[in-house]
Amino acid sequence: MSQQPLANKVAVITGGSRGLGRAMAISLAAKGVQIALVARDVAAMEETARLVAEAGSTAHCFAADVTDETQVAAMAEAILLAFGTVDILVNNAGINIRKNVHEFTLAEWNAVIGTNLSSAFLLCRAFVPHMKGKGYGRIINMTSIMSHVSLGGRTAYSSSKAALLGFTKSLALELASEAITVNGISPGPFATEMNVPLMNNPETNAMFMSKIPLGRWGKVEEIGELCAYLCSPDAGFITGTDILIDGGWCAQ
Ligand code: NDP
Repeated sequence: MSQQPLANKVAVITGGSRGLGRAMAISLAAKGVQIALVARDVAAMEETARLVAEAGSTAHCFAADVTDETQVAAMAEAILLAFGTVDILVNNAGINIRKNVHEFTLAEWNAVIGTNLSSAFLLCRAFVPHMKGKGYGRIINMTSIMSHVSLGGRTAYSSSKAALLGFTKSLALELASEAITVNGISPGPFATEMNVPLMNNPETNAMFMSKIPLGRWGKVEEIGELCAYLCSPDAGFITGTDILIDGGWCAQ
């Protein structure tokens, strides 16, 4: 029998096609976790699946738009059919639209709220009933430093992430008796596709650097390892909170 406490647990990771979702998939795979990847870009998910295999586990890809109730229901059914169970749910899919409040269309606003917040509701509604009754479960919601502080042009994003933190706290209380922990991971700036425009713009890059006492962008592997820790038995007493991983941004 494997010595790894997470061996053969099943994790669903939304936004598993790239960025932080891919990093978390790889870190969990290294602990023996089987992975269900959810995103829209199948080719990119297949690349994550290849990296998961390299890390020593297996991943299956499930194409779905996490804002679409019907697609989420079909995806959940397919995942439960393929794996039989789910132990870990990582609500990571997210988008950011940066503009002033009066420039937002309602469709843009709804896209941010739907992707960053309502998707977590849809995924939890689909999987929580199947996570109960096992004496172990982990739900990780990808919150943000923007759950705590903000910048101009982030009304939709900050609203979604602050609300996701509230969702996290309430759900943690709802599921505590099941030993299912519910936590947020709140990253500062990490060098993923979402932040490419900011990294490539010398002015915004300098602004970001001025806010990070540790003086660098985060490395995606650091999120992966934090996720793996939160899923470990050692983290079983942590629930209803979030962990800032921001190089000191929010300490100021
Ligand atoms: P990326 O832009 O690199 O990746 C976003 C992921 O979300 C992709 O896998 C994308 O997959 C998926 N996604 C987006 N919309 C949908 C949708 N409608 N349905 C299904 N999947 C979707 O972002 P990051 O990896 O940087 O960010 C991951 C999470 O971390 C987000 O929630 C983000 O807000 C949060 N975060 C990131 C920070 C950072 O600095 N990078 C800082 C703070 C928080 P596909 O396009 O294939 O559907």
